[in-house]
Amino acid sequence: MNDNLDADRATFVTHLECSLTGEHYEADRLHNLSRAGRPLLVRYDLAAVAAALPRDTLERRATDLWRWRELLPVRRTEDVVSLGEIETPLVPVRASGGAHVLVKDEGRLPTGSFKARGLVMAVAMAKELGVTRIAMPTNGNAGAALAAYAARCGIETIVFCPEDTPEVNVREIAMQGARVWRVNGLIDDCGAIVGKGAAEGRWFDFSTLKEPYRIEGKKTMGLELVAQLGWRVPDAIFYPTGGGTGLIGMWKAFDELERMGWIGAKRPRMYAVQAAGCAPIVRAFEAGEEHAERWEDAHTVAAGIRVPRAVGDFLILRAVRESGGKALAVGDPAILAAVDECARRDGLLLCPEGGATLAAYRQALRSGEVDEEEQVVLFNCATGLKYPMPPADRTLDRHGDIDFDAL
Ligand SMILES: *Cc1c(COP(=O)(O)O)cnc(C)c1O
Repeated sequence: MNDNLDADRATFVTHLECSLTGEHYEADRLHNLSRAGRPLLVRYDLAAVAAALPRDTLERRATDLWRWRELLPVRRTEDVVSLGEIETPLVPVRASGGAHVLVKDEGRLPTGSFKARGLVMAVAMAKELGVTRIAMPTNGNAGAALAAYAARCGIETIVFCPEDTPEVNVREIAMQGARVWRVNGLIDDCGAIVGKGAAEGRWFDFSTLKEPYRIEGKKTMGLELVAQLGWRVPDAIFYPTGGGTGLIGMWKAFDELERMGWIGAKRPRMYAVQAAGCAPIVRAFEAGEEHAERWEDAHTVAAGIRVPRAVGDFLILRAVRESGGKALAVGDPAILAAVDECARRDGLLLCPEGGATLAAYRQALRSGEVDEEEQVVLFNCATGLKYPMPPADRTLDRHGDIDFDAL
């Protein structure tokens, strides 16, 4: 029985901390960025969590996202607006990837993408802290997840998308009750509008990493992955990196699990995967920079990672470097070929961003960056069903002569 949401479980949040300066901020208050203009990280009393939550207690719970409640910020269960955040499967892709390649298929989550993890948490906290109006810039999936969870608890949402955001995303956002606007610009141009309105007190700014709780939701990818692998980390993780919430979140999760004594010091090599047409993190990584400059004229079929500038750039770069990984760019043709091959040979329909991780993995294999014996996890961040597919338009006249040999 799933009682993860029946009981009010204690939360162990002690405070929030500026990710750049370490300055402390009070928990249970509304925050956006720190005074230094950087993301805030939630801190917990991890010794108390470890004492309160023996690992076998956790293992007896249902496997959904809420089993991690003691490592999450929501205090009151009544503030959780859940759509059923299940544990996502690790699917082997032997033919298109290799014998030791697993895809964590995040397309199974509510609203069809891993944005649900971050937004279920951020909306719960917004509800807990009395927010009634939220605005967000989005390339699509984040807006859809926000709209869905906010609709369930009566929070008003205003969403701004680049005008060429995939049609299905714009429509699902509208259908789930948000007011959605197509903007003639990129996601950071949309973010500027949200910031301006927030400064005027019109709404609460829900941009990536500009509120502290999306990272906490996204970090469950790391917690879940480690539990699924029997309290081990894989050798390498390939993560499609836009704002980098998931990569930063997983890195935080591994750190918290080690502090609780649930895993050792080994870390996976973290590969931040970007599209060649929008690769600010890759450029900064290769130049040895700590921050990434805005990428001009960003373009790629992988809309979810078309993010010219990330406020958490230094956190992404730090995690990648500390892990011994790299930031890698792949071109659109390689992305589309990987999606195609995975569908044809392994029967798994990836989103383009997921395809980017497979393409980057294969590139890393060729260059000797990874070994085919290593255990690798690729993130498929959204269901492939949301994206345009090549036409399939063969027709058959049931009244005519059917040439069965030709079928
Ligand atoms: C948001 C998104 C990404 C990027 O995730 P971040 O954690 O923000 O870097 C990748 N792919 C898809 C499909 C997305 O919706």
